[in-house]
Amino acid sequence: MDYRTYLRNYPDEKGYFGPYGGTFVPDKLKEALKEIAEAYQTICHSAQFINELRRIRREFQGRPTPVYHCERLSRLMGGAQIYLKREDLNHTGAHKLNHCMGEALLAKYMGRKKLIAETGAGQHGVALATAAAYFGMECEIHMGEVDIAKQAPNVTRMKVLGAKVVPVSFGLKTLKEAVDSAFESYLEHYEDSIYCIGSAVGPHPFPQMVRDFQMVVGIEAREQFAEMTGFLPDAVCACVGGGSNAAGMLTPFLADPVDLYGVEPLGVGTRLGEHAATLTYGRNGVLHGFQSMFLLNEDDSCAPVYSNASGLDYPGVGPEHAFLRDQGRIRYEAAGDVEAVEAFYKLSRYEGIIPALESAHAVAFAMRYAKENKQGAILANLSGRGDKDIDYIIEKYGDGERYLGE
Ligand SMILES: *Cc1c(COP(=O)(O)O)cnc(C)c1O
Repeated sequence: MDYRTYLRNYPDEKGYFGPYGGTFVPDKLKEALKEIAEAYQTICHSAQFINELRRIRREFQGRPTPVYHCERLSRLMGGAQIYLKREDLNHTGAHKLNHCMGEALLAKYMGRKKLIAETGAGQHGVALATAAAYFGMECEIHMGEVDIAKQAPNVTRMKVLGAKVVPVSFGLKTLKEAVDSAFESYLEHYEDSIYCIGSAVGPHPFPQMVRDFQMVVGIEAREQFAEMTGFLPDAVCACVGGGSNAAGMLTPFLADPVDLYGVEPLGVGTRLGEHAATLTYGRNGVLHGFQSMFLLNEDDSCAPVYSNASGLDYPGVGPEHAFLRDQGRIRYEAAGDVEAVEAFYKLSRYEGIIPALESAHAVAFAMRYAKENKQGAILANLSGRGDKDIDYIIEKYGDGERYLGE
């Protein structure tokens, strides 16, 4: 495989990365998605769109975010040097705004007035509500009632930003039902709205669009790291929920002699229901409108998943990751709850950076890598900041003293 031409060839025009991807939705929705795909293919090459997105990233989001060398943490690990791409410093505190601003700008160019999406923990809902406020658009966020009760601060944020939060009260009342409900609403309103998915998942063209909008992360980081050190890193890693921050961070390095790692959540064990490590334990299936790897029960229904990082507990993974895993170009490793909490506390105490629990999984892997490799450098994507997690961490794991030793 020639990775220098990879981005031009994947996905193909039907939205496939090898056997994964595609569009598995009702015919009516297929038409609506085709319209988005065609508009995106045209607009993403227009100078006007690109320049406007660049201006927004610079002036509104505060990009570029820096690359930072963790000197004290690296010394503690005693091996390879650890560097972080600081997406926690992107406006709203995580990488998700990168694709939300892109999707909303596309909606504006298509003349749409309303953004519709699902949210689980509320992070995507907040990022999209921010984009809607910026562009003066309506925003409708579908959220399971169980999640609404658990994630009160994010529900409040969405409302302050002017979004309408639609409670979903059927089934398990969580993310999967929220997706169904949001797609239903989109089907009714697709002439004046656009559906904005929350990760590099779902039917074509979303996995491609989200990857493309997130690639700013890896493109910046690659240049910044080379400028700081004169080299490329030996390894790059990112945590994987649906795979948006990992796609953005890793794909710009595909053609480089650099080891690439996606880090999945191992939760509390290896049995079904104890983790959300899809590429390690999942199998081929079709769900949420696309073909990929999923964690499934024996009867092919969706298995329960768990991670202490709510942004990672998705039972599937973006089709591009399944493909790059099969190609052997990206390796997918796993880190559990406790390893992530240890990374959370160490990064906080040794560097003064409180990471999101999701991002702490990538930091945990970087720390493991630094211990096992005496030389070299690993660059980890710090996908978001951890303010949202501190109450939960203190309540569940205590003040952290026992996670701070070597
Ligand atoms: C949502 C989220 C993730 C996981 O989503 P991906 O699509 O896999 O990137 C990771 N980190 C943070 C901070 C998040 O909010």
